Amino acid sequence: MKNYIIFGPPGAGKGSQAVILSKKYNLKHISTGDILREEIKNGTKLGIKVKSLMDQGVLVGDEIIMEIIESVIDHSGSYSGFLYDGFPRTLTQLTALDQMLKRHNLKIDAVISLVVDEDILIKRMLRRAEIEGRADDADIEVVKKRIETYRAQTEPLIEIFEKRDGYFSLEGNTTIENNFNEICKIIENL
Ligand code: AMP
Repeated sequence: MKNYIIFGPPGAGKGSQAVILSKKYNLKHISTGDILREEIKNGTKLGIKVKSLMDQGVLVGDEIIMEIIESVIDHSGSYSGFLYDGFPRTLTQLTALDQMLKRHNLKIDAVISLVVDEDILIKRMLRRAEIEGRADDADIEVVKKRIETYRAQTEPLIEIFEKRDGYFSLEGNTTIENNFNEICKIIENL
């Protein structure tokens, strides 16, 4: 089982890439954001608990996220691996993922980091709000808060990834197709 992380700020295009990559390489796409939005939509206890944090553009607790990850991993089906999208987002989550994979004799095989200019991120999220109707994309203040949260709590993980094998940083300002082709090259050369 391969374990790939698609990394980057909100609006970088992680989700779009994850959908097509997981199809091409038979990976289970694990988007913690999508899972949480589904919980909110279904009005579950968990959904009610996380809604206001997500609406504010701040992170949901690490324990909640790790419970989600563990339960998804335990039901992995016939996939060739996992593609994490929007996870890990904190040092605690990364450490927990490393430990969990170690218990299964697995490791993070690659981290693909999309680097995108801030003005493009903001434009993309506001445009996505019109298409997908996500409340946290529609409000410019929430969009800015999410980028700020990324810079403070998530971006520092890059320093750790850079010291390991399998870290790839990619200029993500271009089209979905260009990014996809570049990522495929990375995966196929691993
Ligand atoms: P996303 O769809 O990945 O942009 O996530 C939307 C929101 O869900 C984030 O702004 C957070 O509030 C929450 N969220 C998603 N993934 C995580 C995570 N790994 N850790 C903490 N919060 C998360």
